[in-house]
Amino acid sequence: MQFLKDIFYVFFPNYCLGCDITLQTHESYMCTHCRHDLALTYFTNEANNHLERSFLGRVKIIEATALFYFEKQHKAQELIHLLKYENQQQIGVFLGDWMGNEIKNSERFQHIDCIVPVPLHPKKMRHRGFNQLDKFGKRMSHHLEIPYITQVLIKTTRSNSQTNKGRFARVKNTQEIFTTQQKHLIKNKHVLLIDDVITTGATIEACYDALIQIEGVSISIATMTCSKF
Ligand SMILES: [Zn+2]
Repeated sequence: MQFLKDIFYVFFPNYCLGCDITLQTHESYMCTHCRHDLALTYFTNEANNHLERSFLGRVKIIEATALFYFEKQHKAQELIHLLKYENQQQIGVFLGDWMGNEIKNSERFQHIDCIVPVPLHPKKMRHRGFNQLDKFGKRMSHHLEIPYITQVLIKTTRSNSQTNKGRFARVKNTQEIFTTQQKHLIKNKHVLLIDDVITTGATIEACYDALIQIEGVSISIATMTCSKF
């Protein structure tokens, strides 16, 4: 079997997502050197971790985890950039497999019922052609054997709120606005909300505000990366 695998590699070599060198047969997606360059958070098995604490007093997140810290000039930032702007969707597969397995083996995330991505605005979706979270979410859905649901949480247009004239409406107008539809799909469910980068947490908070209106919903978070705060 190994012999066939080696032969296969001669004709179809795989390249590292981080540095483009040819991968060894025992490596997948990323070479050992680049993997060492990712600043892992180890949050998945850590209760009351840094990311969870960052939401204290703002929104009630059940569990939260991130794979790595997002640091400028680092490998993680490069990966996210390639995924979002260079259409390197295999990065979503790589990280979805990684996160899916981590969560599956963690005692903390055993009560999740479904996965919901932070949505793109429909206009941006048309422009980019894909939500960079889709592969990530679908691979996690595969490992955890729970549905990946994209129909419920929707990002709405800013112009909707511009018809409101109040001061509050203007303030809100500078923020992201989310709404929900087909609410029955996540009624009474523990939702795992997924994102690629969490910095201030404002986007997560806005999504949370929309989702929590649905009866019986509770929310946990899994992100590819987060800042060190
Ligand atoms: Zn590499």
